[in-house]
Amino acid sequence: MLHPQVNQIRCEPGSSRDGFFCVAQRSIESIQLNNWHSTPFIFKLCVCCTHQELGFDLRDRELRTKQALSLIALIAGIGLYLFSGTALCAGLATDGVTGIEAAAFAATEQYMIQLDADQRLASDAYFEGKAWLILWNLFYGLLIAWGLMKSGLSVRMRNLGEKYTRIKYFQQCAYIVQYTLVVFILLIPLNMYEGFFREHQYNLSNQDFMGWFVEQGIGLMLELTLGSLLIAAIYVVIRRLPDSWAFWGSVTSVFFLVLIIMVSPVFIAPLFNEYKPLPESELKEQILMLARANGVPAEEVYQFDASEQSTRISANVSGLFGTTRISLNDNLINNISPEGVRAVMAHEIGHYALNHIIETLIYLSGIVIMAFFFIRFAFSRVIRPEWGVRDVSDIAGLPVVAALLSVFFTLMTLLNNTITRSNETEADIFALNAAREPDGFSEAVLSLSSYRKMKPGPVEEFILFDHPAGYQRIYRAMRWKLEQQSIVELEVPG
Ligand SMILES: [Zn+2]
Repeated sequence: MLHPQVNQIRCEPGSSRDGFFCVAQRSIESIQLNNWHSTPFIFKLCVCCTHQELGFDLRDRELRTKQALSLIALIAGIGLYLFSGTALCAGLATDGVTGIEAAAFAATEQYMIQLDADQRLASDAYFEGKAWLILWNLFYGLLIAWGLMKSGLSVRMRNLGEKYTRIKYFQQCAYIVQYTLVVFILLIPLNMYEGFFREHQYNLSNQDFMGWFVEQGIGLMLELTLGSLLIAAIYVVIRRLPDSWAFWGSVTSVFFLVLIIMVSPVFIAPLFNEYKPLPESELKEQILMLARANGVPAEEVYQFDASEQSTRISANVSGLFGTTRISLNDNLINNISPEGVRAVMAHEIGHYALNHIIETLIYLSGIVIMAFFFIRFAFSRVIRPEWGVRDVSDIAGLPVVAALLSVFFTLMTLLNNTITRSNETEADIFALNAAREPDGFSEAVLSLSSYRKMKPGPVEEFILFDHPAGYQRIYRAMRWKLEQQSIVELEVPG
């Protein structure tokens, strides 16, 4: 008797995946000859679940050893990267330290006591709740995907598109428009709680409901137009290249990603906020000097009216290849001292000078490629025949793809956060050296405490923090200040 999985891996003549299937089948046949039932379970599992998909030849010991070693190297590499990233807040042991270290801790505490207990409790609760919301969003998203498939709505939306046009690309666009609208409507309660009520509950929002809703509408329009055109284009690649869609689909997605990063400061960001040149002032000239001294090709500093939406301070150096621009929000200008503004801008300039935009893009490309191969691996395993989806290139399977992507990216949070946190730490150090404003820097960090927990636990920081924790950032600034002072003192003769 054959194992049920064996029947599924028949080599289909003319199949575009002959290569993979034949190799797997040859391996299976050699097991069949010997007796499937006496084959160790793990071996069966490998044949049926992994090698069938990847096309590895199990008889080739050398190849298997190399693959195992590569896998171990990859896991070890990622592990090392994760653990060597940034010193975590919990790694800062205050016990038994003396000299500059002890003085830096004491100076950090002086900043920390500026926050009263209620403020600390509120920002901790806000941050912890946000972490739970990641999971709620995931579960709710999966539920929506399941509902769309199970109810047959997804297939009906596809059929509707096919009824009105014969051009495949437009059929796909028609589906994506319907899908986007349905998901938007189903997500309204969660988005309203998360983006509006909760932000008001923690005094982080200045927006009235109408303002918030209009903004959601603008986002929806972008998804309906740009989003559907781009996703439909990716589906063209999946349909046209049945053998290699995972690779070319990722290449196409990365290309779109670069395009979006390039156009967003000029075309997308102004849809949500008004950007205008910062009025001439000493501070503006200082920011431009900082930028020029560190190689940022910018002649203007833009201010945007973020206070329309929130009370958060923020700034950025955005764009790519000629669309680079330095922007800061009005909350930063209005609530932080000039020293603090210079420190924050030096941090943003640091992202540019240290090539973080390109670096992040390279990391993201790797993650996008992994995401596509994950879909290739998982799609056929989760799809049910009764859902009526023809194959992975059928747009009616989009909810399943979206669900798989949300699982994948939630799992990738740890890696993403570590990559971002490492860059943020580099930009912090750059900012201290460029602006030389450790107290301004600490003042700005302290004001971020309204929505970021200042002193998280080690696991919390490791998994959830995409920036170093506030306590650690202030400690670094204080230590920088004290070490610099000691250098100056040593230089003074006598
Ligand atoms: Zn940053």
